[in-house]
Amino acid sequence: MDLRDTPGEAAFRDEVKAWLDANLSDELRGARYGAGRFEELGRMWSRKLYEAGYAGLTWPKEYGGAGAPYSYQAILLEETARAEAPQHIGVIGLGMAGPTIIAHGTEEQKQRYLPKILSAEEIWCQGFSEPDAGSDLASVRTRADLRDGQFVVNGQKVWSSFAHLAEWCILVTRSDPASERHKGLTYLIVDMHAPGVEVRPLRQMTGEAEFNEIFFTDVQVPQENVVGEIGQGWSVAMTTLLHERGTLGFALTGVLDVAVRKLIALVRERGVDDPLLLDRVAQEWIELQALKFTNYRALTQLIKTGIPGPEGSVAKLHWSEANQRLTKLALEILGEDAQVVNGNGEWQHQQLRSRGNTIEAGTSEILRSIIAERVLDLPRSR
Ligand SMILES: Cc1cc2nc3c(=O)[nH]c(=O)nc-3n(C[C@H](O)[C@H](O)[C@H](O)COP(=O)(O)OP(=O)(O)OC[C@H]3O[C@@H](n4cnc5c(N)ncnc54)[C@H](O)[C@@H]3O)c2cc1C
Repeated sequence: MDLRDTPGEAAFRDEVKAWLDANLSDELRGARYGAGRFEELGRMWSRKLYEAGYAGLTWPKEYGGAGAPYSYQAILLEETARAEAPQHIGVIGLGMAGPTIIAHGTEEQKQRYLPKILSAEEIWCQGFSEPDAGSDLASVRTRADLRDGQFVVNGQKVWSSFAHLAEWCILVTRSDPASERHKGLTYLIVDMHAPGVEVRPLRQMTGEAEFNEIFFTDVQVPQENVVGEIGQGWSVAMTTLLHERGTLGFALTGVLDVAVRKLIALVRERGVDDPLLLDRVAQEWIELQALKFTNYRALTQLIKTGIPGPEGSVAKLHWSEANQRLTKLALEILGEDAQVVNGNGEWQHQQLRSRGNTIEAGTSEILRSIIAERVLDLPRSR
């Protein structure tokens, strides 16, 4: 297999790099989700991506996308991460809600929602997790009762990233009160400004408030906001989760690439000569190369089928654990100096944030089970 860019891909990579050079200011480069002026900068940056035609590269042209191959999306993610550009503020709309609506939505839903996801005019959040339904999503209890052609939603979601900024929420609800587990669930699009929706931000250990609790009290949702069929919400939700993990890999590799480079720069700057520490640095470089090849496998699957495969879980697991180890190593190299934040405290921030990376989008334990069962075809654990 030839892993080099084709001439068309190489030209696209050059175009993206030149565009990033011309458009990415230092202020944008440092923008961190949940911190300072992120919302303003994030919206501005997302608009720029959209105007350059880089939002929704692989989406169908009739809904504002570019209809480009997945390899172009991989190149865009890789280069923007390498350049330390902020993510598109519509990360949930672009990566999860949009692909789910493309796969299961009605024509009206596609026309109504997709273009505004791309232009970042409307931000989305994901209302899946509940206090008693995280890894075990089939335990959701948020109710959606159909009354006079409208769903009435009552319940609570938690850990919803972007909910404090969002216009829309993709919500997994239980529409059949007598149902259990995967049956009787309905996937709804909910207006976050509707009466009865209350958002309460939660602060993480980084000090930033990235995610939220959402309370729904008698929230009216029109029946046309159902995605897929009433009662078939589980299979729609699985599409969302496959996309959540499946298309992230290249961005994650780009982020790890930058972190490994910074780690090596730190080793040089500090004159580290402890062979055991140097071994660990070399190991992180090796892990990065392994992650790159896992991503190529995931990309091959995506190009063949159009649907992200379980390899996405391998990339997410590998990246999140590598990132956690690497930032810990950086703090060890900093030694006592790690107690004092210099500059923007990037290593300290990354170490604290990296704990969440091994929980969000599936915990490491859950991802290991998925890999065992669906990639390695081992017996099911339960
Ligand atoms: C930064 C961040 C952002 C998030 N954003 C969102 C969002 O936007 N929308 C959303 O809906 N959710 C979001 N989440 C929630 C996330 O999806 C859940 O936290 C995650 O699925 C785990 O669920 P839980 O927290 O309920 O933990 P639990 O499921 O209660 O798990 C607790 C522990 O038990 C382990 N465990 C559970 N079941 C098993 C099993 N079967 N086998 C082995 N071990 C098991 C877990 O690995 C974990 O260590 C976010 C989380 C974080 C950290």
